[in-house]
Amino acid sequence: MTTLTPILTRTWDHPRSWTLQAYREAGGYRALDKALGMEAGEILTMVKDASLRGRGGAGFPTGLKWSFMAPPDGGPRYLVVNADESEPGTCKDIPLMMANPHALIEGVVISSYAIGCEHAFIYLRGEVVHVYRRLLQAVEEARAAGLLGDDIGGSGVTVDITVHAGAGAYICGEETALLDSLEGRRGQPRSKPPFPGAAGLYARPTSVNNVESIASVPGIVLEGVDWFTGMGTEKSAGFGIFSLSGHVRTPGQYEAPLGITMRELVDMAGGMRDPDKELKFWTPGGSSTPIFTAEHLDVPLDFESVAAAGSMLGTRALQVFDETVCVVRAVDRWTEFYKHESCGKCTPCREGTWWLKQILGRLERGEGSEEDLDKLLDISDNILGRSFCALGDGATSPITSSIQYFRDEYVAHLTHGGCPFDPAASTLWA
Ligand code: NAD
Ligand code: SF4
Repeated sequence: MTTLTPILTRTWDHPRSWTLQAYREAGGYRALDKALGMEAGEILTMVKDASLRGRGGAGFPTGLKWSFMAPPDGGPRYLVVNADESEPGTCKDIPLMMANPHALIEGVVISSYAIGCEHAFIYLRGEVVHVYRRLLQAVEEARAAGLLGDDIGGSGVTVDITVHAGAGAYICGEETALLDSLEGRRGQPRSKPPFPGAAGLYARPTSVNNVESIASVPGIVLEGVDWFTGMGTEKSAGFGIFSLSGHVRTPGQYEAPLGITMRELVDMAGGMRDPDKELKFWTPGGSSTPIFTAEHLDVPLDFESVAAAGSMLGTRALQVFDETVCVVRAVDRWTEFYKHESCGKCTPCREGTWWLKQILGRLERGEGSEEDLDKLLDISDNILGRSFCALGDGATSPITSSIQYFRDEYVAHLTHGGCPFDPAASTLWA
């Protein structure tokens, strides 16, 4: 039986956990003291050896990303923290920044030192004004305490942070759209290559990393590589925050080693909200990952095992739906989101998500025909791999996987002449 590993979440229930004083009392900033006594290259090697993989969804190795940055040439280099958490179901970075902002700030200073960056940015989604205020306050506290700015702790290391709130667009979580937005332009993805490590913010070498990835760095520096690799699996080392939402008794953030199973997590969350109702489907990593069903409850939640079972670990946004939920309706809602958030730059996604939404809407109302199912699959096939960025691909995942597992339920809408589910029977839509 896997047990929880509260590390980043350990202090969330402490009084005023977000203050510098509370963070220090819990041992905070000791990793920074240690890091400032190390060579920058040693820190990078530690993060590489720990096999920390990006916690924003893609799982790209963090140390490798840092080492891919163009070599120093005397000009500025940047760390940009992607705090634009917007995927439906994904809700780990926002509570992390609210409850423990200094873990992120400590991680930013150490990571910046490791990659030779003197000015880091935290790019936050615009809607979360409360998080923006909390981060500004924490950055100010850290600066006043000499933990940010010039010559930190007399070490000669200089790092400062700018917190930037975007205007609230899902596409600005795509790293190059984020960089465009940060530069003051409309956020739309850039061509890759060049990757940001070669030419990122203001065309300078830049590493874009997720909040949880950067907040995990102090632990690695302080406790060591073996401590980190002692958790998780061989290829998916360490721990992660698993966000359980939907039809479980106690939804919330469960920090656990990668490789834990959904069955274990649902048990930890007190089981299904209504114990008489069966789990019907769930998302392993947010709405852009293919859905899973009850048959996948024992798949280890690590990058490789989830991929082998036909989905993606993504952001570990585990949305749980019981038997009262109409899968067509859930997929229709997610598709509305993707249609709305498509930035319009490329045709397969801009036109395709619009058509997917039209067809799903009429199927849900029982007005379509069985041919519409093939049209959904055909359009999805023409979006997948032909879109400019991952948003288009992600939009097709819930559609193709729900047809794979619940084709009968789509057909039932047609034979029933509308949704066969009673929305009043489900607490989800309340
Ligand atoms: P990606 O695999 O293209 O890239 C991941 C990272 O690795 C990027 O930083 C990229 O620059 C870097 N990288 C990849 N190949 C590289 C190379 N050859 N050289 C140097 N760097 C390289 O994935 P992506 O499009 O950036 O992100 C997709 C993921 O985002 C999805 O898996 C999804 O789970 C996640 N996502 C998260 C949210 C959220 O709210 N957190 C929202 C939408 C999507
Ligand atoms: Fe924009 Fe969608 Fe194309 Fe991405 S896939 S560039 S979001 S239109």
